Amino acid sequence: MSTSLSPNVNTLSYLNSHPMESSRLLNSLIEIVQTVENSPSGNPIDEIINIHILRRLLTAIHFRDIQTLKHSRRVGIISVGIGSRLGWEDSELRLIEIASLLHDVGKIGIPDHILHKPGRLSPDEAEYIASHHRVAIEILQATQASQELIQIVAQAHGVKVDTGDSNEKNSSLGARILAVADAFESLTSARSYRPAFDEKSALKILHEQSGKEFDRNIVAALERWLDSHESRGLHDDSAAESAVQANAPTTDSAKANAACFCQLFQYLHLMESLYDAFYLIDEKRRVVIWSMGAAKLFGFPAVDLIGQPWHRSVVTADGPKPDPVEIAFQSAKSNCHTLTLKDIDGNDQEFGVQTVPILDLNQRVVATAELICDGNESKKHRGQFRKLHMAATRDALTGVVNRGELDDKMIQVFNKWNAEPTIPFSIVFLDIDHFKEINDRLSHSVGDRVLIDVARLIQDELYSGEIVSRYGGEEFVILCPETPLETALERAERLRRAIMGTKIAEREDLRVTASFGVAQVEKNDDPESLMKAADKALYEAKNSGRNRTCHRKVSAVQNAPTAEQKKQSDWIHHAEITTCVASSMLHIKLKGYVLDNMAKILDVKEDSLLLQVGASGLLGGWGNKQDRQPVKVRVEIHELPNNEKVSGTRRILLKTITEPIGRPAKKETFHTRASIVVESLRSYLIAD
Ligand code: GH3
Ligand code: MG
Ligand code: MG
Repeated sequence: MSTSLSPNVNTLSYLNSHPMESSRLLNSLIEIVQTVENSPSGNPIDEIINIHILRRLLTAIHFRDIQTLKHSRRVGIISVGIGSRLGWEDSELRLIEIASLLHDVGKIGIPDHILHKPGRLSPDEAEYIASHHRVAIEILQATQASQELIQIVAQAHGVKVDTGDSNEKNSSLGARILAVADAFESLTSARSYRPAFDEKSALKILHEQSGKEFDRNIVAALERWLDSHESRGLHDDSAAESAVQANAPTTDSAKANAACFCQLFQYLHLMESLYDAFYLIDEKRRVVIWSMGAAKLFGFPAVDLIGQPWHRSVVTADGPKPDPVEIAFQSAKSNCHTLTLKDIDGNDQEFGVQTVPILDLNQRVVATAELICDGNESKKHRGQFRKLHMAATRDALTGVVNRGELDDKMIQVFNKWNAEPTIPFSIVFLDIDHFKEINDRLSHSVGDRVLIDVARLIQDELYSGEIVSRYGGEEFVILCPETPLETALERAERLRRAIMGTKIAEREDLRVTASFGVAQVEKNDDPESLMKAADKALYEAKNSGRNRTCHRKVSAVQNAPTAEQKKQSDWIHHAEITTCVASSMLHIKLKGYVLDNMAKILDVKEDSLLLQVGASGLLGGWGNKQDRQPVKVRVEIHELPNNEKVSGTRRILLKTITEPIGRPAKKETFHTRASIVVESLRSYLIAD
C-alpha cells in the first residue's frame, strides 16, 4: 500500500502553510544540497554553481520580486559588456554574468516593507539588508558554489569572506565590475524617490565618483561598450521580457519550492541574528552549513569544512563524550552543553551549545544543528528559541496546535491510514455560532476569552489522542486518529452539549454554542478533500439552524449495500411525520397512541422510542388481519431548525423505521401494514 500522498498535498499547501517551521526548512536545504551531489549536468556552468541550483535561485528571485530579477539581468548584460571590453575570456565572462544574476539573491528573504520601501533606506534598514546578503553567501557556500562566485557576490555588498586560497585578484576585479554595472543600472532606472537618469548623466555621476568608489578603468570600459553596437541588447525590451519569463515558476510545485526557498533565507537570517554561530550536519555526518559566525568563532573558513566529515575537534579539543551531535541523531531529542573557548586575551569564555535534531515527516532524524551563543546570554537565547519553536507550532491566543502543525499531523495520520486502511480516522470541524455578535455586543476581548475557554473546554473533554487545532478565527479542527465516524459523532455531540452547558468567559449574559461538521476518511481522500467534506457538513449544520452536528454521508461507492443488505432493505419501511406541538403534548399524544393500539414499548431513549405494534399469531405466523400484523417501529424525534418557540410549541420531525416481526409472505403486504401503522401514528400526533 502506498504511503505517499498526491503531489499537490506534499508540495503546495504543505510547504506554504509552514511559514517558519525549522525542520521543514532545514530539510529543504539538505534536499537542495543533495541536488548538487546527485545531478552533475556536465554543463560548464557547474564549475561556477550547479545549474539546477542556479535555476532554482533565479526562480525564487522571480517569485519573490520580479523587479530584482529584471535588475539583475540588466546588471549581467552590463557586466559582461564591460568584461568583454577589458578582454576577459568566455569562462570569466560566464562567471561575472552569474555573479550579476545572483548578486541580490539575499533580497528574497527581506520582508516587503523594507524591500519595497518608498524612499531611501535608514542606516538600520541598510544594515538589515546587508545581513541578508550574508545569508545569501551562506547558502551559496552550502551549495558548494565556486569561491570566485562567492567572493564577487560578497564583495559587491562589502561582506568579508575567508575563501582560503582562491584567486583573490581576479575575483576582486570581478567585484569592481559588478559594482560599476550595478550602480549604472540603478541610476538609469526610476526609483520611487527620483526619476531615472539618462545614460549620459549616469556616466557623469560614475566619473565623478571614480577613483573613490568606482574603478576609473572600469567606468571607461563601460563608456566604450555603451558607445559600441554591442550594447544594443540592453534596450531590447522583448528579449528582456522573455528572458525573465524563462525563470517564472509555472507549476504549483515550482511555486512551492520558490516559496520554501524564500522562507529558508528568512529562517537562516533569524538564526544569524539569534546565535553567535550555527552549523548543520547531515545524516552522513557531513557539514552542510557553517555560518559566518562559526567561521569567525572557530577560525575555520566554510570552504574548509562544507562537505567534509564532522568531527567535534573542529570546535573544541575536549568536547563531551559521546558527541552531543551523535546523541541527537540517536535519540531524536535536543540536548545542551557548554563550550569553553579562549578569547583574544587568553581568557576563558563560556558558550551555550544547543544541539537540535532535524526531523522529517516520518519523525526520522535527517540532520542535526548546533546553535551557539555567548554563555552570558545563552539562557535568554534558549528561551527565545523555545518560544520560536512554540510560535511555529502553536496558536498564540489559545495555545492549541496551529494550522501549520495540523497539516503536518494530518499527513502523519494519512500516512498511517494508508499503511493500515482498515482503521479509519475522522475529523471534526467546529465553528462557534454568531461569534461576531459576541465581539460586537461584548467587546473583542470577551471574544478572545471565549476562544480561550472553548479551546480549553475542548481539550478537557477529549482524552483519546485527538489533536485539537485552531484553524482560523473561531474555527477549530479536531483530528481524531483511529476513530470511525460513529465515535467521532458521539464526541462531537458531547462537545456540543458541553459548550452549550458551560458558563464561558465567566459571563452570565452569554450563551455560547457551536456547530459541528464531521467526516470520516474515505478511499480517495487527501487532506484537502477530507477537510472540504467536514467543512461542507459544518455548512449544513449552520444552515439547518446551528448548534448541531452534521456529517458526510459515508460514500455510496465505499459503502454500497451488499446483495444481502439490499434484500434486507426490502423489509424496512421509512417514513417521516412533521408536527408542531408543545413538548409535554408530544409525550401525551404518543402515550395515547400506545394505549389505544395496545402497543408495547420496547425501548425508550432521550430522542427515540421503540414500539411493537400488533402481535404474532399463536403459531408465530404473520396473520391475515392487517390491524394485528406485528411490526417494530422506531420513532426518532428531531427538532426542526428555525424553531420559533411560540408559546412553547416546537416544530418536530419524527422519522419512523418499521420492520416486520417474523417474515410476511410478500414484501408488499408488509409495506401496506407499515404504512397503516405510520398513518395511524400520524393521526394521533397531528390531531389537536
Ligand atoms: P456563524 O454562526 O455563521 O459562524 O457566524 P459568526 O459570527 O460566528 O461568523 P463570522 O465568520 O461572520 O464571524 C467570525 C468573527 O470572528 C469575525 C472576526 O472578527 C472574529 N474573529 C476572528 N478571529 C478572532 C480573534 O482572534 N479574536 C476575536 N475576538 N474575534 C475574532
Ligand atoms: Mg462562527
Ligand atoms: Mg467562521
